[in-house]
Parts: sequence; C-alpha cells; structure tokens
Amino acid sequence: MRSVKIENVSKQFGQVHGVKNLNLDIKAGEFFTFLGPSGCGKTTTLRMIAGFYYPTEGKVFFDDRDVTRLQPNKRNIGMVFQNYALFPHMTVDENIAFGLQVRKLSRNDIKQKVDRIRGLVHLASYGDRKINELSGGQQQRVALARALVIEPDILLLDEPLSNLDAKLREETRIEIKRIQSELGVTTIYVTHDQMEAMAMSDRIMVMDNGYIKQIGAPQEIYNRPLNRFVADFIGETNLVEATINTIDGEVIQAKTANGLVLTGQKQHSSPTLTHMIGDKVFISIRPESINLGNGDNTLTGKITFVEFTGISVNYIVDFKEFSLKVMIINSNDHLKKIGEHITLNIANDALYFLGE
Ligand code: ATP
Repeated sequence: MRSVKIENVSKQFGQVHGVKNLNLDIKAGEFFTFLGPSGCGKTTTLRMIAGFYYPTEGKVFFDDRDVTRLQPNKRNIGMVFQNYALFPHMTVDENIAFGLQVRKLSRNDIKQKVDRIRGLVHLASYGDRKINELSGGQQQRVALARALVIEPDILLLDEPLSNLDAKLREETRIEIKRIQSELGVTTIYVTHDQMEAMAMSDRIMVMDNGYIKQIGAPQEIYNRPLNRFVADFIGETNLVEATINTIDGEVIQAKTANGLVLTGQKQHSSPTLTHMIGDKVFISIRPESINLGNGDNTLTGKITFVEFTGISVNYIVDFKEFSLKVMIINSNDHLKKIGEHITLNIANDALYFLGE
C-alpha cells in the first residue's frame, strides 16, 4: 500500500476545465472517496491517478515517487469500473487470472493466488462458472477479485455499484469495505451517492465544478460542513436565510427577513464564518433534528406535505417566509394531515450557521 499525493493539479480539456488546482494527500491504507455531482471532476482526478490522463499542470506522487507521466501498466494499480469490463464468455477464474498471466506468473502461482482471492470475495465454488451465468453482484465481485489479485498498491473504484439494485448495492458495499479493511489496500472510490460515501469512507473529498469544497471524515462533513454546497449535498437539510442580530458570548441570534429570531451557538458554525453583527448567514437545520412540541426555537406552521416511510413521518411545514422539511421517527402516533398546524422546536445546538 502506498500514499497518493496530488500537488497543484489542473486538467484542461480545450476550453473546459476538468479539475482546477487540486491539492490532496491520501494516506497509505486509507479508504478515500471522491464525491460530487455529475461533471464535478471525480473521474478526471481518478484517471490522472491511474495514468489514463496526464495533468495539464501539477504532479502526482505515489509515496515519494513522481508518477505524473508514468504509463498506467507501470503503476501497479487495480481498477474496478461501473460496467465491470469482464470477458463474458470466459470463466470466473480465467477473468481473475488475466492480470497474472500478463505478468507471466507460473501456473502454480496463478492458481494459488486466484483460489485465495476467489475465497476472499465469497465466490469459492464459482471458479468454473462463465461470467454471463452470474448475477450482477457476483460479476462485480469478480471484477473486484481481478483488480485485487495482482496485489495492487492502490485500488481505484469508479462507481462500482451503480448497476446494482438497492439491496445488492448495500450488500456489495459491505463486502467491498470488509475486503478493503482485511487487505489494508489504499482505496480511492468515486461516487455521486452521498450515503455510500458516508458509509464506506475514512475520508471524503466533496467536489463541485472541478474544485474541492471540503475534505474530511464523514461525521465532520455531515456535522461541520464548511459551506452551503456541502451542507446541501450531504444528506438533507433546510437552509434558512437570516442576518446575525446579536452575539453574546457563545450565543448567536439571527433574524429572518420577517423578524423571526432563531437562537444558536457560536461553536456550531462554519470556521469560515466571520461572526459580525449584520452578516448574512444561512442556517442549516437537518430535518431529523426538528422535534414536535415546545422547546428551544419553538415555531408553529402549517403542514403542506405528509409522507409515511415506515421508519419516519416526513412533513413539509410552511412558515410563510420559508418552509422546513421535518423528519419525525415513527412512533405509532396519530399522523397529522395536510392543512393542520404543527408546533415544532429546534434545539439551539441543532442550528448550524454558514456564511456562503
Ligand atoms: P460523472 O459523475 O458524470 O462521471 P465526474 O465528476 O466524474 O462526472 P468528469 O468526468 O471528471 O466528471 O468531468 C469533469 C468535467 O470535464 C466535465 O465538465 C466534463 O464534461 C469534462 N470532461 C471530462 N472528460 C473530458 C474529455 N475527455 N474531453 C472533454 N471534456 C471532458
């Protein structure tokens, strides 16, 4: 396993910028995810690490070795793609063995390594099966086995679960994580699915339009987003526009345009916020942090949407100036209906203040 360092890297495609001035340190053995909407530069960055693209500017290092212009087959990387890219008429073992044959290992060595890795991906008895006789999830595990059997220094996974249905995605996600931690291989994972990123990663890089918006552990990114983009992209949130009204020690009060005052804590704000009275802020309030009844920041509004999901009841509640998405854990209580009024409260420490 190796570390990966990206230093001032930009990639230009004619007039279009793929990524801009990227700096990134991925630790040896880390499970690191590139997360962001379509077109934000995830695949471009991964391809520069793989060697399929060379950066327009900047450098890529594996440990201390400059690999910026090294060919992909000299980098000792394993790759898994969304569409598996397996040979459909060959058997599982023939597919897994492919990279070892290219490296001209002995038949004995190949057999040993293929057997071991087939067991690791829980396909022990599937060696002679043809790829087109396997389910999507099994095919993806073959693709993973083929990438891992060469004992790569770095494993690159580009949206590997997108072709699987929801249940299989979850199962395969758990499998990938288990295998990665068993082998301890440095893994870079590309996805636009924030749940997947949070569940699997040691750290996540959130990207938008070729730029880094935040790098951090899942909890850090969820609980302490640096900006509006990250707050909104990771999980669901309500963003209420307000102006800082008073600051008294640790207590911040912010006022919405219609004069509604919300009280929060200074420590629950983005480090990029300057905390000046009169500053415009966005208050991020997660739907699951809003409670029924009276308490801190009590509000009464009118229900405009009700949805029962089994685990929760989701409401949209209108407060004239803004509306809030609210998630109440299902507790067998009487469901409220559209048009009814509802009283809600938001704990002071559930408000999170953002500057931009
Ligand atoms: P997706 O989730 O849709 O795969 P992504 O985050 O991986 O998106 P990239 O594929 O890295 O995004 O693309 C980043 C930007 O660079 C986009 O604007 C894209 O159109 C552009 N781009 C990527 N590859 C090329 C190319 N070969 N030629 C021209 N433009 C490209």
